[in-house]
Amino acid sequence: MKIYNTLTRKVEDFIPLEEGKVKMYTCGPTVYHYAHIGNMRNYIGHDILDRTLRYIGFDVTRAMNITDVGHLTSDSDSGEDKMEVARKRENKTAMEIAKFYTDAFFEDFDALNCKRPEIVSPATANIDMYIKMIENLMEKDIAYQSGGNIYFDISKVKDYYCLTNHQEDKMVVGAREGVDYDDNKRNQADFALWFTTSKFENHELLWDSPFGKGYPGWHIECSGISIKYLGEHLDIHGGGVDNIFPHHTNEIAQSEAYLGHKWCNYWFHNEHLLDESGKMSKSNGEFLTISLIKQKGYDPLSFRFMCLNSHYRKQLVFSFEALNQAEATLKKLRNRISSIKDEGDLDEGAFASYNDKFIRELSNDLNTANALSVLYELLKDEQVNGHTKLDLIQKIDKVFEVGLIVPEEKIDDDKEILALIEKRNNAKKNKDFELADSIRNELLNKGIELIDTREGTTYRIINN
Ligand code: AMP
Ligand code: ZN
Repeated sequence: MKIYNTLTRKVEDFIPLEEGKVKMYTCGPTVYHYAHIGNMRNYIGHDILDRTLRYIGFDVTRAMNITDVGHLTSDSDSGEDKMEVARKRENKTAMEIAKFYTDAFFEDFDALNCKRPEIVSPATANIDMYIKMIENLMEKDIAYQSGGNIYFDISKVKDYYCLTNHQEDKMVVGAREGVDYDDNKRNQADFALWFTTSKFENHELLWDSPFGKGYPGWHIECSGISIKYLGEHLDIHGGGVDNIFPHHTNEIAQSEAYLGHKWCNYWFHNEHLLDESGKMSKSNGEFLTISLIKQKGYDPLSFRFMCLNSHYRKQLVFSFEALNQAEATLKKLRNRISSIKDEGDLDEGAFASYNDKFIRELSNDLNTANALSVLYELLKDEQVNGHTKLDLIQKIDKVFEVGLIVPEEKIDDDKEILALIEKRNNAKKNKDFELADSIRNELLNKGIELIDTREGTTYRIINN
């Protein structure tokens, strides 16, 4: 298995610390709002990594946090806690907000067939661990109290900028646009481990601590949860590319200073999903979610399929046109698979050969698009019998998880619609536009809208 490691900036052989076992950590969502489809692309990327490792035979234990306190609007130490913003926006308690958006997150997560990590822990459930770590860092004189808060002194660690290839100039927090200069810090890149002060009134979630009543910083949460549940050594830690700095940079600094040794060997980062305007952001409140896509009549797995067609380290631009195409292609693929007759004996040679090809592509830094090409190659191969094809497709869908094998009754419904689409296409070819339009309208009356794409015509069920 080869994987790109942000720490070394190379595609490397993946070698876990303990043979056959993988400890993996994924930065979880901040539950102050719905997760947008960009966030979900990131979790699909992690899911593919998790499932690929299992497919190859590794025993994976994965942990993920739920950020329900301490993530400030700036991603560093200025701005308001995002949970507080939501609490005021919706006039609820922080825990009500957290519960509501955690449930909404997992609804989308499950709809995308993302496998839930073995350990999912909210940040607020592990305050003791952060306090223990901060006390340790203060004893070592790596953390200090200033202006009421506890900060991490980045000058005390050897290689603070290791994850960002030493681009210190670009990374100094105080030098970034929109981030406040902080008088309390010894170095402007120092970061808060514990806040006892706030420019904003009535911060709801506060805990007693040896450093005063307050709340933890976002970065210490992931270090604390990872070390508490996965131990002192980690194989893979991941997030989106925006997490590289400051979040993961700070996680490395504080974890290694606390532990006194190297912490995590591989850093896995997913590129962003962009919308046509450029950046996808939650803060303006207008964004697309998986639930919304579903309400519009799309299959959430079409979104997953769309993501699999591009590489996780490349930016991907979302558009409904692209989603329509992905849905049309996925439907065609499912129909093609449903027409395979389950006949013949298992051809072990062919099975192993295609399975190897498939693994080779996924093991090459998760080349999901090429792995899909192997599937198309298999479908075309007339030397391989139906039984072997279906067995293999069922197996590889344990990684893709796009529902390649559809139950017969669903395919039958689909077939009826597809037959009408075919009839409409023929009518259009024969310039019988009246018939073509009447078919479109007949389906529309049944709540089925036809969508013409470059990949052919697809349809969606209109819910409202
Ligand atoms: P948040 O809930 O804001 O903490 O973000 C959850 C995860 O989504 C983080 O790991 C981010 O790196 C990731 N993320 C944020 N925006 C995008 C995006 N547009 N595309 C892909 N991943 C993203
Ligand atoms: Zn994190």
